[in-house]
This record gives sequence, structure tokens and C-alpha cells, in this order.
Amino acid sequence: MTDLEYLQANPRITFRRAGKPDPEGSCVVYWMQRAQRGLDNPALDTAISTANLLNKPIVVFFGLHPGYPNANLRHYSFLAEGIDETRKAVENRGAGFVFRPYPDHDLIAFCDEVGAALVIGDENPLREAEGWRRSAARKLRVPFWTVDADVIVPTGLFEKEEYAARTIRPKIHKRLPEFLKPLENPVAKFKWKRHDLRKSQTSDAISILERFPLDRKTQPVKTSGGGTSAGLGLLKRFVRERLAVYDTARNLPHLPGTSELSPYLHFGHIGPHTIALAVSEADAPQTAKDAFLEELIVRRELAINYVARNEKYDSLEGCHAWAIKSLSEHAHDPRPYLYSESSLENAETHDNLWNAAQKEMVITGKMHGYLRMYWAKKILEWTPSPAAAFEIAVRLNDRYQLDGRDPNGYTGVAWAIGAKHDRPWAPARPVFGMIRYMTASGCARKFDVNAYIGKVAELAGE
Ligand SMILES: Cc1cc2nc3c(=O)[nH]c(=O)nc-3n(C[C@H](O)[C@H](O)[C@H](O)COP(=O)(O)OP(=O)(O)OC[C@H]3O[C@@H](n4cnc5c(N)ncnc54)[C@H](O)[C@@H]3O)c2cc1C
Repeated sequence: MTDLEYLQANPRITFRRAGKPDPEGSCVVYWMQRAQRGLDNPALDTAISTANLLNKPIVVFFGLHPGYPNANLRHYSFLAEGIDETRKAVENRGAGFVFRPYPDHDLIAFCDEVGAALVIGDENPLREAEGWRRSAARKLRVPFWTVDADVIVPTGLFEKEEYAARTIRPKIHKRLPEFLKPLENPVAKFKWKRHDLRKSQTSDAISILERFPLDRKTQPVKTSGGGTSAGLGLLKRFVRERLAVYDTARNLPHLPGTSELSPYLHFGHIGPHTIALAVSEADAPQTAKDAFLEELIVRRELAINYVARNEKYDSLEGCHAWAIKSLSEHAHDPRPYLYSESSLENAETHDNLWNAAQKEMVITGKMHGYLRMYWAKKILEWTPSPAAAFEIAVRLNDRYQLDGRDPNGYTGVAWAIGAKHDRPWAPARPVFGMIRYMTASGCARKFDVNAYIGKVAELAGE
């Protein structure tokens, strides 16, 4: 087996356009989309290792355009905050970084311009991103591989849709020794020297957004900011201050108990390997570490499996037949309250806890994980039909959550409203049928609801 064949045997790689790298080509191009980082990025590693084997330099192409579905200024600002740092990290590894915002974001034109020998991309199971990759595979004239860079165990190893966490968990655990290992982070042997190419300053990424045709109603949030260092800082703090009690404190929204890393994972500013290895090696009780790794690896990769294997992932139709049937049997049950989408969006319900969760999301771009379940289940209870509830929950989640528009979000809504990956709960209840139910009084038994509502009121300046 040649070195190149050995590299190609990596189960993270999908060969979108087959063939041999163009021997006349001058470089390897890495089309960076999902894995927006220079650290612990298997797609960048593959691109650099391949370029080293081909004795060619490598350049990262980052084309930014305003067409990400459902993305608004809040999302773009977070994304843009990470670009300059990613460029520096990529350049430190001997690769070039060309940033071309809309309307100059065309990959095919760039590959022609630099004479690509081979193009490597990363993976994202959402349908629009998958469509862009298919289109690139049709249009490129050189081989095109994609690397599943944002999961621990490659998604391609699970060819079918998994039924629940219990079906995917043993399969994931079996493969962890093979895939949960430090990544190599190789350096390019042949330095990128094309300084003549037109490109935009990555430090201008935020101001470039001013000329983008974006939805500006959802404003950026004051967070620790996008980018790999901000994500690593949060990770460090989480491991130091919260990990040891994660298994007991993670469902207590009035306390800061979870990692808050989901936006960084969503934008690829930090990869799951970095987080999983830091947690595995931390000096913390094994029960806490296991509870965290269950969420980060098993639940997250179950969500990715669902979105990759079920075309209807963002509608009720993607849910189990028993759940759809049970919900339809209760479709005409009287709803205790009925709210329009705008009343929900403006947090104008009778339920102070729900309103606080909604406000937290609108103001901060995040909602505590435990409350996300309650929030979506109440939308099912207070809107005219399960299908409408699903659509509203997805729209609000995608618009306001910094980590929205993510496989976890579609799966979370499908879990809460359509019992995806869950089981039937007897006896059947009005409106919910056999779908698991949640109540405000149940929340009050679990955590300090008033402390949480007070915290959000302070945030809202009330
Ligand atoms: C209705 C609903 C909507 C949701 N929307 C989103 C969303 O838009 N984006 C998003 O990333 N997550 C979503 N989730 C899943 C989960 O609530 C968040 O990932 C989690 O709250 C993020 O906070 P954290 O980073 O502090 O999580 P931690 O508890 O610190 O967990 C670490 C990581 O594990 C993963 N994780 C945690 N819980 C889950 C879960 N239940 N399913 C899958 N992965 C998980 C996340 O990547 C998270 O960052 C949603 C869940 C529900 C019920």
C-alpha cells in the first residue's frame, strides 16, 4: 500500500469525486466550511498530510457568503469573530489562507485560479451544506474528498438511522479506542508562497458583514466571543470549576453547571476531540466525566446520525410512526392555552418560567439544556397542532440560539415534540398522547425556579 493509499483508507474520508490528484496541479486546496479552526481539525490534517505526500503546498479557502439558511447577524458575527484567529493558526502550520467574502466566494473559480491538484472539504449533514458539496463534486475538475472532522466516530460507520441512544451507544463505545486519540496536527512541508492572490483581510471580517444582505433584527450577543481561544478558555474554566459536579448540576438552570461550548462546536471553532480529551484526562470523578462524554459524544453523534440519515429531520414526519400516530389521536384535544408565534416570540405567555427561558434565549443566544426540553414541550401544548409546534420551535431555536441551525437543534425539537429517540410514556395524556410530558411543578421540584426567573429578569433589566 502506498502512503497515499494508506491515507485514503481513513474512514473519515468520503470520495466525492474520484480520480488521481492532478500531477500538474500546483497545490492542495482545503475548502473550509464547517471545521473553522486550525487546531485538532482532521480535515486540515488530511489536507496537509496529502499535500506533503504530493510534494505540494496547501491553501485553505474560506469563502463567506450571506446565504447560510436561517442565519442572521447574530450567527454571522460569532462566526466572523473566529476567522482571523483561524487564519493565523492555519498559517502557523505552513498553509496559506485565502478569505474571500461574497460576491467573490466561488470555490470553483478559486480552484481554477490556483491550479488545484485535489480539493479537500469537511462534512456537515444539514441538507443545504450537503447540496453545496454535491454541486462542487459535479463542477470540480479534480478529485474532491470530504473529511468528517467534527465527530469522534465517523458518521459513515453507521449507515442506518439509529433508533435511540441505547442502539448507538455500544457501537460508539466500541470504536472509541480507535478514534478518541490526540490528533497529529501536522505541519506543511512545502510552504505556501502565493502572496499575489486577491483576498480580504480576515481582521475585517466583522466590518465586511455590514455590506452583507443579512437579517439584522436578531442582534449579536455579548458573549465571551467566537473563536478557538474563547472556546478553549471556556473549556479550561469548565474543567476547572464545573466538570466535577456535572452529573449532579447539569440539570439545574439556576446554576452555571454546563460547559456552554455548543456554539463553539456548532461553528467548528473547537472540535470534539479537544473537548473529549481534556475531559477524559481531567482530575474529576469518573461519573462526572462519563456523564459529560455521554452528551458530547453519544447524544451529539446520535443527533448527527439522525440528520444524516433522515431527510425529514426538521419536521414532525421524521419522528417515529408510533409518536406521530399518538399525537394525531390527540390532535383535536382542547389546548389549555393557545398562543400565536409572535406571543411566544415576545415571551407573552401565562407561564413565568417559560417566558424567562424564551427571554434568556433572545437576550443571550442560549437557553439552558433542561429548559430547552420544557420550552419545546410547552410549544406543543399551546399551539394548534404538533406540526405547527414543530415548525415554530425550529424557527425560534434557529433564529435566536447561537448554536441553532445544528443537528442537535433539529433532534432536540424532534425529541421534545415527536419523541425522537425516546419511548412511549403511558398513560396517554391530552394533547401529548404518549409523548413524555413536563410540568412547571416538576421543574420547581427539580431546581430553584424563582432564582432562575430572577437571574433572567436581571439580564433583561426588569
Ligand atoms: C428543544 C431542544 C433544542 C435544542 N437545540 C439545540 C441547538 O440548537 N444546538 C445545540 O447544539 N444543541 C441543542 N440542544 C441540545 C442541548 O440542549 C444543548 O446542546 C446543550 O444545552 C448546550 O449547552 P452546553 O454546551 O452547555 O452543554 P453541555 O451540557 O456542556 O454538553 C456538552 C456538549 O454535549 C452536546 N450535548 C449536550 N446535550 C445534548 C443533547 N441533549 N443532544 C445532543 N447533544 C448534546 C452539546 O454539543 C454540548 O455542547 C437542544 C435540545 C432541545 C431539547
